[in-house]
Amino acid sequence: MSSEKLGINSKLIHGGGFKDPLGSATVPIYQTSTFIFDDADHGARCFSGESDGYIYTRIGNPTINTLERLIAELENGYGGIATSSGMGAVNTVYMTLLNQGDHVVSSAAVYGPSRVVLEQKYSKLGIEATFVDTSDTEAVRKAIRPNTKLLYIETPSNPTMYITDLVACSAIAHEQGIPVAVDNTFSSPYLQQPLDLGADIVLHSMTKFINGHADVVAGMIVAREKSMYTRLRGIMVNMGFNMDPHQAFLVIRGAKTLGIRIDRAQQNAMKIAAYLENHPKVEWVRYPGLESHPQHELAKKQMKGPGTMLSFELKGGLEAGKILMNNVKLAILAVSLGGVETLIQHPASMTHSKVSTEAKLKADITDGLVRYSVGIEDVDDLISDLDQALAKII
Ligand SMILES: *Cc1c(COP(=O)(O)O)cnc(C)c1O
Repeated sequence: MSSEKLGINSKLIHGGGFKDPLGSATVPIYQTSTFIFDDADHGARCFSGESDGYIYTRIGNPTINTLERLIAELENGYGGIATSSGMGAVNTVYMTLLNQGDHVVSSAAVYGPSRVVLEQKYSKLGIEATFVDTSDTEAVRKAIRPNTKLLYIETPSNPTMYITDLVACSAIAHEQGIPVAVDNTFSSPYLQQPLDLGADIVLHSMTKFINGHADVVAGMIVAREKSMYTRLRGIMVNMGFNMDPHQAFLVIRGAKTLGIRIDRAQQNAMKIAAYLENHPKVEWVRYPGLESHPQHELAKKQMKGPGTMLSFELKGGLEAGKILMNNVKLAILAVSLGGVETLIQHPASMTHSKVSTEAKLKADITDGLVRYSVGIEDVDDLISDLDQALAKII
């Protein structure tokens, strides 16, 4: 059966199209830097592209290529490009599409380093960036300039959980011939498939949901068209942003349970969001599954589920947040997200600490905002944990 016809959970188990000549049921780790040519002519054919034989692991490797095909199948794209980390994927996209004199429009509330690298490094290479609340479609239209070469979106936004309308924003960018890249880390292809909604490129920190076990750092880009795929791949290979075969093996293993992990964590998240929303010490909760979320309807249309990430603010602001983070016993106080374990963190002093205070406030990243990544523990235990920690706030 062609894997295109399979449901996503079947693709997660059987996708990637690897057939081991010795019959291994799992994808082996081809832990080699280089590959032997049959003879000089074969080597020449590999380099010219007449043969698709392997040459060198930075360029291609059977374990890594299997993971690339798997994620491309999940995202309905032409091809995947694996990177050493999520930031390797982000920088491959920036390096491929942005040249001196170009301009990028980006969501204001993005992963901290995705913004910081534009402000602090690409700016020095003559590349300008405008950060807007991309959940405001008109703000996106107004930010576009004649030299805009990329619309870069994160939805749900990090850590504010706003939703950007991918169909509307892609249409605006495409009117001007501008490619759209979406960081899909917060949803994973299990919940959102941006290429089907108009995006040209989707990227992931697979460190998060796709691997899901807090034991690998890894990234992936998927392009909708072959020409874009070829350009991105060339930059990844020559910049040395490549993945290692052992990383690929671990992510392939982790990805098999993506669906059941998210289903379970999402059920937990819904209950926890409702619990927090009704708690007297909580100022607000932002979770796409709550009716109180400003883009609840858009989330329902664009995503297959509201996900497992939520942010909230305590009435006591940062001080109350600190008490909560220091008193939870089951949730782990750590950055990252999308794993089997529940994590809690404070963006203003942690993941977004290098973003300027002014930019943070403009992006609604308030000092008291707490980010909570729901895991697959028993939800009653997670709620009791929050309950006892919230009780410590006076
Ligand atoms: C973690 C993260 C990244 C960066 O990924 P790394 O694997 O840590 O390099 C990029 N975008 C989002 C949304 C993330 O959460």
